[in-house]
Amino acid sequence: MAQEDVFRKLVSHCKEYGFVFQSSEIYDGLAAVYDYGQMGVELKNNIKKYWWDSMVLLHENVVGIDSAIFMHPTIWKASGHVDAFNDPLIDNKDSKKRYRADVLIEDFLAKIDDKVDKEVEKAAKRFGDKFDEAMYRETNPRVLENIEKRNEIHERFSKALNDNNLVELRQIIVDCEIACPVSGTREWTDVRQFNLMFSTEMGSTSDGALKVYLRPETAQGIFVNYSNVQKTGRMRIPFGIAQIGKAFRNEIVARQFIFRMREFEQMELQFFVRPGEELEWFEKWKKIRMKWHQALGFGADNYRFHDHEKLAHYANAATDIEYKMPFGFKEVEGIHSRTDFDLKQHEKFSGKRLQYFDPELNKSYIPYVVETSIGIDRMFLSVIAASYHEETLDKGEIRVVMKLPPALAPVKAAILPLIRKDGLSDKAREIMDKLKFNFACQYDEKDSIGKRYRRQDAIGTPYCVTIDHQTLEDNTVTIRERDSMEQKRVSLDLLEQEISEKTKMEYLLKQLI
Ligand code: ATP
Repeated sequence: MAQEDVFRKLVSHCKEYGFVFQSSEIYDGLAAVYDYGQMGVELKNNIKKYWWDSMVLLHENVVGIDSAIFMHPTIWKASGHVDAFNDPLIDNKDSKKRYRADVLIEDFLAKIDDKVDKEVEKAAKRFGDKFDEAMYRETNPRVLENIEKRNEIHERFSKALNDNNLVELRQIIVDCEIACPVSGTREWTDVRQFNLMFSTEMGSTSDGALKVYLRPETAQGIFVNYSNVQKTGRMRIPFGIAQIGKAFRNEIVARQFIFRMREFEQMELQFFVRPGEELEWFEKWKKIRMKWHQALGFGADNYRFHDHEKLAHYANAATDIEYKMPFGFKEVEGIHSRTDFDLKQHEKFSGKRLQYFDPELNKSYIPYVVETSIGIDRMFLSVIAASYHEETLDKGEIRVVMKLPPALAPVKAAILPLIRKDGLSDKAREIMDKLKFNFACQYDEKDSIGKRYRRQDAIGTPYCVTIDHQTLEDNTVTIRERDSMEQKRVSLDLLEQEISEKTKMEYLLKQLI
């Protein structure tokens, strides 16, 4: 199936089964804003729990907070967001479509990489076992030519970003003959900077309203509470503060469904360390976070690190964890070594001391910070993209199944009386009433059992429990496993244990240590 088709199917599946809806749909929608439906909210909550527990339960030196979305506006001055939270924009004069200049160039570079990879893949097939990939990359003229071209553009691009050279960014687009995907023309405007923060007013205008911002990241809520948490929690460096919450960005190019939204949610950790130890911790957190992703079982090949071309003004190292979405490898999480930039700035702007007294070193300093920042919505998208499968069964029937990691599945077990008669419904209800305290269960007695199985497959329910006439005689049920579709009879005494083994969050968390 073509990648665009896969993506289109995912979007419609999400809507059909109550995972994600367009916001304000009956009013024709609001661009780049989405609502999570009855299944989506459960999946999202489970992703959050997996992250939160992995941070706060598994690390004794990590605690959580929940700070407000509105904050004192000077915070955004101190953090640099008022002056520098910009995207470089360019418009195509014919289609009137607006793009991020850096994204146009990055996509162009990715196309060259793809070309090289395809060339290498073809050669690998041709030469079979004897193929030496490194040698081929170093000697094949076509590959070399493309790599050289890529490196040259890449170098110009990095320099232009670092120098904030908007004229050069435009020139690269012109020189690479990048065309607008909509009009197909190369009529480009100049590149301009655009601030991504939303603002509103707090208080009544007659009192002199205060211009406040909707936070574009949750991190600053952690920094400004650093001292509160350190003191009240008697935290010793190294320690971390975790937070989950909404963030808002007035994204210019809001597309690809929930990948780039104007209102989204982040899960961030700020980990405070001794100055000079930050790069060591940066490497540690890279490993921890990659393990967290890979524990979901979607295949190690589908993840990669992507080091940043341009370091943000606050960072001395930065990388992204990318996942292979249906539209290519894309950032899901950022890991940054933020130095002491933020705390230093807040000390300066607030006039409050944010130093830490290190009893082991017997001196005070402003801690350095390593940040891990993941977007829940992008994580959600990667989870459904990896889980969505269409399988052709024996009789040619297509089965749509979401092979969600059981601990993340919105419904853990479906309780299905084979028929509505003969007391089977009552027995099924009895079982449901026991299980519902520990598992998200769904009771369903409508339609044939086959149809009911399909409905559960489509929302990713790991287990279907069927109550039949034999259940009334010997207190056993059949339990059907989603991925293998295998069924076995289990005694009611053992049912909870059977469902619990893989669906409990513990199952995932244990793979992290
Ligand atoms: P991008 O380069 O894609 O705009 P970013 O580098 O600006 O992302 P960060 O500021 O590092 O993103 O934010 C951390 C995480 O927050 C990202 O890895 C992503 O998962 C998520 N995120 C950022 N912007 C959005 C958005 N507009 N919609 C959904 N998630 C987002």
